[in-house]
Amino acid sequence: MTKIFDNPKQFGADALVGFTAAFSQYVQPVHGGVVRATASPASEVAVITGGGSGHYPAFAGWVGPGFAHGAACGNIFASPSASQIYSVAKHASDSKDIIFAFGNYAGDVLHFTEAGEQLEAEGYNVRVLTITDDIASAPGDRHLERRGIAGDLLVLKTLSGAASAGLSLAEVERIGRKANDRTITLGIALSGCTLPGAEAPLFTVPEGQYALGLGIHGEPGISTADIPTASELARKLVTDLLAQRRADTNEVVLLTNGLGGTKYEELFVVHGRVLAELAEQGITVRHQEVGEHVTSLDMAGLSVSLMFIDDELEQYWALPADTPAFRVGNIQAAGPRRIIEAEDNIVSLTAGAPESQAQALTAAGLLTKIAELCAAQENYLGDLDAIAGDGDHGQGMVLGSSGAVAAANTVAAQNGGAKDLLDAAGKAWAESAGGTSGALWGNALQVLARAFSNEQAASSEQILAGIVAAAQSFQIRGKASVGDKTMVDATAPFALALEQAIASSSPASTALALAAQAATQGAEATAQISAKKGRAKTHGDASLGHPDPGAISFALITQLLSSQLEQD
Ligand code: ADP
Ligand code: MG
Repeated sequence: MTKIFDNPKQFGADALVGFTAAFSQYVQPVHGGVVRATASPASEVAVITGGGSGHYPAFAGWVGPGFAHGAACGNIFASPSASQIYSVAKHASDSKDIIFAFGNYAGDVLHFTEAGEQLEAEGYNVRVLTITDDIASAPGDRHLERRGIAGDLLVLKTLSGAASAGLSLAEVERIGRKANDRTITLGIALSGCTLPGAEAPLFTVPEGQYALGLGIHGEPGISTADIPTASELARKLVTDLLAQRRADTNEVVLLTNGLGGTKYEELFVVHGRVLAELAEQGITVRHQEVGEHVTSLDMAGLSVSLMFIDDELEQYWALPADTPAFRVGNIQAAGPRRIIEAEDNIVSLTAGAPESQAQALTAAGLLTKIAELCAAQENYLGDLDAIAGDGDHGQGMVLGSSGAVAAANTVAAQNGGAKDLLDAAGKAWAESAGGTSGALWGNALQVLARAFSNEQAASSEQILAGIVAAAQSFQIRGKASVGDKTMVDATAPFALALEQAIASSSPASTALALAAQAATQGAEATAQISAKKGRAKTHGDASLGHPDPGAISFALITQLLSSQLEQD
């Protein structure tokens, strides 16, 4: 259990306060995460990583000379938002060449890609590399669809070595991809982990058993079995890993990683047996690490990772690095890097026309109702997400919607128009929630904002067309298809039904009611299918019989909007 905190929703941010104070010689806080406290040459490719909190030392603990330049830090288990990543990347160094490298999860991919697009538009060169080492999450022929777990350390350190050696952006990316292609991990869980403030763990492992192929966000394993001896466990992990080996070489970097709730001595016992097993199978361990590197809150368990190396990868893996949680060799300390963070943008808006202000207030009122609904459904949505995902969908919807309400109220207090209010609400939703749903809901509100103007009232035709476009944006941005078991199974039928109702000139209230009904049916029908996209796809069949959390929250929100419109 994670038991000690003030406000559980602030847990990640509060932990960062203590962390940055304790390691101020290495890191300094900026909006969205941490960057190096020391200077680096402007010619050096900037390595930016990040992810949800709860995995320490991944990712903030790896910021320092020879390793990452900055880490974006999201809420517990939720990806950081695009604006947080953007801020970290901008403050991390003076380099125009940036590589984003992070574990492969839908939310992280969405937010890092968006941040990269913003930076590219400003003249930066950005490469995006997702780390995909977890052999339990997809077969070898779909290696690049796998999740990133403890192998994050091996891949990220190697490509960071290439950056610190002064290689070009293209070369750093090549080394990173090569390292990722040759890195595989398999892990076991002995107990689940508990989100701060939650009453129960995200999953449980039956007494005396272990779960094979766990994730690092409380995603359950893919199978369970009786806990074997250390030697038997080492043999099982090594055998399964070598069956998935990704290079002809017999030389590896070995990492035995603790997940957060397993004693170092226990890790050493297993590590010793893994070494013996590897030797027996003809594998030479050139470098090795044992310890907690990529954790999952308080989860008990461990994983074994292998990176199959050649001289090139070995060279960059072994270059010196000095960070809060990972050190190798000696590195000469550079002088401090001073950052002057821009003052918090207190954007002063031009007041909207009275008709637009009135619509802005209606929108703020509806957002407040949405936030109340999300708060009331938080546990239900979290429980649904814990079945095959990471249990944070309720938390994400609460953080996102309440952030949107706060931003909307700020704009309303300045007499802003409806377009500005919805745009600010969308940005705040993505920023406050992070995660897949945060990116998609934040974007949808910004798309909706385009249907409005600050100078005049939008007509009901314009608003309805805006709602259709916003609903379609979930699919455009998320790239999921109907039947993948995501919120698109609710958003697509909603958009279609609304378009049809508009075409047949139904009144707005009828049109929205029909569309909300279509969304609800679509969401409920997801119980019959296995997940093909998002986090849940690894445990596709585990979700059979239960609807998709993102589809359900979308349907509930559309029902709310439809009933509000009827009352008005
Ligand atoms: P995360 O998956 O980052 O933890 P949330 O838990 O907040 O984010 O949201 C999970 C929901 O996101 C899923 O229930 C699903 O509806 C939706 N989702 C996942 N991947 C996609 C995608 N590619 N396109 C659209 N929606 C998606
Ligand atoms: Mg989730």
